[in-house]
Amino acid sequence: LSIDIPETLQTFLRGASASIVIGADKLGAADGAEAVTTDPATGAVLATIAAGGPIDVARAVDAASEAFEHWRRLSPAARGRILLDVADAIEAHAEELATLETLDNGKPLTESLYIDIGLVSQIWRYFGGWTTKLGGQTLPVSPPVGEALVYTQREPLGVIGAIVPWNFPLLIASWKVAPALAAGNTVVLKPSEHTSLTALRLIEIALEAGLPPGVLNMVTGLGSSAGQALIEDPRVAKVSFTGSTETGRRIITASAPSIKKLTLELGGKSANIVFPDADLKAAAQGALAAIFLNQGQVCCAGSRLFVHRDVRDELLAELETATRAIELGHGLDDSTEMGPLVSATQRDRVEGFLRAGTQEGATLLCGGQRPGGALSHGHFLTPAIFTDVDDAMTIATEEIFGPVLSVLTFDDEAEAVRRANASAYGLAAGVWTDDLKRAHRVARELQAGTVWVNLYNVLDPAAPFGGYKASGYGRDLGEESLLGFTQTKSVWIGL
Ligand code: NAD
Repeated sequence: LSIDIPETLQTFLRGASASIVIGADKLGAADGAEAVTTDPATGAVLATIAAGGPIDVARAVDAASEAFEHWRRLSPAARGRILLDVADAIEAHAEELATLETLDNGKPLTESLYIDIGLVSQIWRYFGGWTTKLGGQTLPVSPPVGEALVYTQREPLGVIGAIVPWNFPLLIASWKVAPALAAGNTVVLKPSEHTSLTALRLIEIALEAGLPPGVLNMVTGLGSSAGQALIEDPRVAKVSFTGSTETGRRIITASAPSIKKLTLELGGKSANIVFPDADLKAAAQGALAAIFLNQGQVCCAGSRLFVHRDVRDELLAELETATRAIELGHGLDDSTEMGPLVSATQRDRVEGFLRAGTQEGATLLCGGQRPGGALSHGHFLTPAIFTDVDDAMTIATEEIFGPVLSVLTFDDEAEAVRRANASAYGLAAGVWTDDLKRAHRVARELQAGTVWVNLYNVLDPAAPFGGYKASGYGRDLGEESLLGFTQTKSVWIGL
């Protein structure tokens, strides 16, 4: 695969080496440690990145603590203006950021541009608009003696640690950083060691757009080193984390000594249910988008497709034909519909699930192969569909985080809901039906933080996103995420 990297990006990539951002400074790790980040479609090295550790995190928290004293006192209008300017600057750099995201993560450029970066600027704009609307309440209280007035105010928490994964690197970083800053907090961001580049570029862009130094800092490096240090630092008031359920459990334990507040967005095994009264063409397209977007590396992927027995054969025929036609390639190639998995480790993991599926008795209808030729140097896997899947099989219970769809058959509505809910996770669910009453009834019964009816994998800055059960707690996006970066004070005035 030969891909031309634009000259401006080549300059950025050369300069990305040793790239912890503290205040306005780009630094190397205190101990000089570095790691390379590669293009998952070719295996080529893109840049070297500083592998930060506890000393770097402590410095970043120093900078964020100092900046907090100024940032929290800035008028809401002034804070909002800066976030809106950052949104404009992101929009002006959208193509560059999308190209960088595709190089680092592998996803097709159209996805990077229209889903990831498109939403990123909207998110900064949405939360920029909230700074002037974060009000409190006046409360009718009845003290035992005399009279009093009580009002509440929303105050920022202080320094926020944001720890994000590699599947939507800039999008998830933004949906944590923007509301945290809007509420008056300052941030230390720890991107995934696999995909640090767009976050690094974002900070440069934000500083140019007028974000004061120290308000947003970043320490690149491993979760076990930089991430752990961020959780253990007692000066960090809250950690907002997105990643695996396993890491989430570790974070809960490590945060206990400092009683840190947490928002945890964890894994999923989302059910997507197709009823016989659905528009089957739309359901087939929706089921494919639900599982194969971003090579299936989506926390809310519709990885368990429940299809009513009456429409199973027709739907499966559509799915198989469309899946076999999906074009794999480098994300910067115009004809590419699906890129590589993010790393060799991730591909190996997904292959382990493919083997488990077959061993446990499911039928691999198509896909699950490593393509040869020009794609053999990247971490590609052809998109896979399993049929004859049983609810208890590994591929029906565990998060695969790859392009693997499990198709299950059901006979009635109550059964579909019961089996959809029989999961440790509860991040999202999909419902395909033209029956209005059924749509609302099933949406109400599903145990999931997001239910999509007749669409899937659509997000908006205004709509809260997060999990039930082992998919985590707290919410990203919407007013709810903003409030999660505040604490409430009740002020009593004796009258
Ligand atoms: P991961 O848990 O391995 O890593 C996520 C982040 O945590 C990375 O930045 C990593 O460096 C850091 N980390 C790892 N160990 C740590 C530790 N001990 N202390 C502190 N930080 C640590 O997850 P991943 O492989 O990057 O991402 C895939 C997972 O993320 C999947 O399980 C997916 O479902 C989940 N995810 C969830 C959502 C959501 O909103 N619920 C969104 C995207 C991804």
